[in-house]
Amino acid sequence: MRFYLYYYNRNQNGEKMDKMKVIIADQINERGIAELEDVADVLVDTDISQEELIERIADFDAIIVRSRTKVTREVIEAADNLKIIARAGVGVDNVDIEAATEKGIMVVNAPESTSITVAEHTMGLILALARKISLADRSVKEGKWDKSKFMGIELNGKTLGIIGMGRIGSQVVTRAKAFGMEILVYDPYISKEALAELGMGVVDLETLLRDSDIITIHVPLTPETKHQISKNEFEIMKENAFIINCARGGIINEEDLYEALQSGKISGAALDVFEVEPPVDNPLLNFDNVILSPHIGASTSEAQRDAAIIVANEVKTVLKGGSPKNVVNMPVLDSETLQIIKPHSKLAEKLSSFLIQTAKGNIKEVNVTYCGDLAEFQRRDVLTRVILQEILNPILTEPVNLVNAPTVAKNRGIIITEGVRSDAEGHKSLIKMDVKSDGSEMSIEGTYTKAPKIVKINNYKVDVKPEGIMLIAKYVDLPGTIGALGTKLGEHGINIATMQVGRKEPGGEAVMVLKVDQSIPADVIEELKKLDNMMDAVAVNL
Ligand code: NAD
Repeated sequence: MRFYLYYYNRNQNGEKMDKMKVIIADQINERGIAELEDVADVLVDTDISQEELIERIADFDAIIVRSRTKVTREVIEAADNLKIIARAGVGVDNVDIEAATEKGIMVVNAPESTSITVAEHTMGLILALARKISLADRSVKEGKWDKSKFMGIELNGKTLGIIGMGRIGSQVVTRAKAFGMEILVYDPYISKEALAELGMGVVDLETLLRDSDIITIHVPLTPETKHQISKNEFEIMKENAFIINCARGGIINEEDLYEALQSGKISGAALDVFEVEPPVDNPLLNFDNVILSPHIGASTSEAQRDAAIIVANEVKTVLKGGSPKNVVNMPVLDSETLQIIKPHSKLAEKLSSFLIQTAKGNIKEVNVTYCGDLAEFQRRDVLTRVILQEILNPILTEPVNLVNAPTVAKNRGIIITEGVRSDAEGHKSLIKMDVKSDGSEMSIEGTYTKAPKIVKINNYKVDVKPEGIMLIAKYVDLPGTIGALGTKLGEHGINIATMQVGRKEPGGEAVMVLKVDQSIPADVIEELKKLDNMMDAVAVNL
């Protein structure tokens, strides 16, 4: 399909003014096109070839795509006037973000467009499991009338455990409440108070698994959530539990799900997403009590319409000189600023990553103090954004970037404050971060000379390169403590590469930082915590 829509702005004298040009290269809902009518000349060409796009892209200020068109580096390099690439949907795999960022082109998407649609699909799967709808359908079509075979359960009064209370999880809540369900929530990154105020039981994962009749997953796939539901978790569940995954394949360990179903440990499962898609030779396909759909959680015309409207409005905002809300990539900074930002970003990233791995519970407050030269640096705000980005990215599905980090933090109730101090304690510059979370308070200080370096942890002086696997142990500085810890690690085949100790006075509280060659399993950390005089121990991987 190819057609032009020409719209001209007119000035006060009624004369035509130059209009911005937008190309819509994939089919999007007409409401999206209509949104742009008053601000741009719009070319809709949903058959445009890659070669033609490269040839013509220099004419355009904005491009809107879905998934057919690949906005490759080649396209971007030819795009001399392009200001924004808009993906009418969630994933941006078909856009070369790096190339766009290098060229200073914003990439936007519409992450909120599918939330209601996915929540509705989740409810559909819950109902299908509770009432065996797909089996019953098949049976009637086979000419049977087995009424007694399809005895179901009511949702009313049942407990729904929701893992992940983001955009989709919260939409599931309202729908499940309408069915009279009790809600339990596990999301360690959202303020418990806010959730409790909305009438949800906020619990730890174990309680959720133990007390829920139906469990539904709405977290992103991250290293932390990969196989979040495995053998141990199935063992905790009720005998008659159902589990639903409309999030991402890989969050449920499919082998362990198979075992749980095969042994009758749980009653059924519904999956819209799989570890390998499509699921070929997957033994889960053989269970009658497993309901499957081909990753269609987001597939409704309304979600597509909303995605088109959302990105068209983002394009409109950018063409009018405003700031869009769903920017996936970073703003461009001048080279002088970049020279300072680059090394200190690395430092900020490491310090943030350290803090997010050591803080207990969800982070509530982050205080950043820029010391020495950094106290004079005008674009400290960018470093603060880097810190927020690093803290939020591991826990959210939407990419958090330098543009949207403060908004995302604000929406999640995280308070961030920025301060300056001229004294950098003998260093040229220093970043100090104090973090308050539900269960702890942590402080870290670092500097950058040729590489990032941690110089204080919880006010104890150290001198540590933040890289590799580290064990941080808080203990009472009494004879034998360090030895016992070394022995325990040795027993588990964990080799200590380097060790540092920070203490204020002999016999008092002290901090030990060990670099180790192997990762430290959670049960070993628990054993370390039980050693005499050991106050706390935590492993981080930087
Ligand atoms: P979101 O970023 O709005 O919410 C994710 C929530 O998970 C956040 O509140 C976060 O705090 C929480 N979280 C992160 N790590 C956690 C952990 N370890 N334990 C518990 N909670 C944790 O994301 P969303 O838009 O609601 O999307 C949720 C999931 O749905 C994602 O995996 C997304 O990819 C998927 N999705 C699937 C489809 C589909 O077609 N089936 C469509 C859209 C989105």
